[in-house]
Amino acid sequence: MAYDVSRYRAVLLDLDGTVFKEEHALPGAVELIRRYNETGRRYACLTNHTFSSVRIAQRLERMGIPIDPGHIYTAGDAAADWIIRRFGEGARVYNLATDSFQEALEGRVVWVGGPGERCDVVANAAPVSVHATPDRQRVALELLKRGATLLGMCADRIYPSARGLELGVGALTAMLAYAANVEPMFTGKPQGVFFHTLCERLGVKPEECVLVGDNLESDIAGARGVGMGSLLVLTGVTREGDLERVGEGARPDGVISGLGEVVG
Ligand SMILES: [Mg+2]
Repeated sequence: MAYDVSRYRAVLLDLDGTVFKEEHALPGAVELIRRYNETGRRYACLTNHTFSSVRIAQRLERMGIPIDPGHIYTAGDAAADWIIRRFGEGARVYNLATDSFQEALEGRVVWVGGPGERCDVVANAAPVSVHATPDRQRVALELLKRGATLLGMCADRIYPSARGLELGVGALTAMLAYAANVEPMFTGKPQGVFFHTLCERLGVKPEECVLVGDNLESDIAGARGVGMGSLLVLTGVTREGDLERVGEGARPDGVISGLGEVVG
């Protein structure tokens, strides 16, 4: 059923399961994003991936979705924004994360090189990166024991790959936190920090936004937690029957069967 979002100043669209699935745009996605581009609507596409917005935009373009990287907001972007907000320009950062994260903060922070240096934050992401070697993990442990903040880019326990299930960023961050005996913080969805740093970029308040997503936990609960409107789309991980199993407080404001039903 059609759902009118015109009362909101900004529309936030989850990507995987909402805008696309595997390597295909979902029905209504291309038209909706084209309409927003043409009318100058304030909008953003969200993901817990830590690839750069440019790479994600290129992937979307291959699916026929026309989007400028400036409209994409990743968990890595949220991490970079939070670090600058919390520690300022010149923050001292140890990168256990990705090249994209390095690029996002290049020139704005000081990259910590060894365990004897002062360090504000250790940033952790996917273990597949060249920044997360066992040697570098040992340095990170030392820095954390000396008081650096541990930042995990998302709290995912696992993620699926062609080989089966892999340890997620959340699990690896928990391992480091346990070893160093520190409390980690996370910047991806559904953490409030993700939505607050995005709202700052867009120049809107959370209650002026509606989030459209397919995941009750990372999208709907996250949006509700900061006071945003929420719209569940049934093209991804959630089935209509799943709604009966969640409490009143975790339900979206509306349910649609695809992005073609978004009006405004
Ligand atoms: Mg999704």
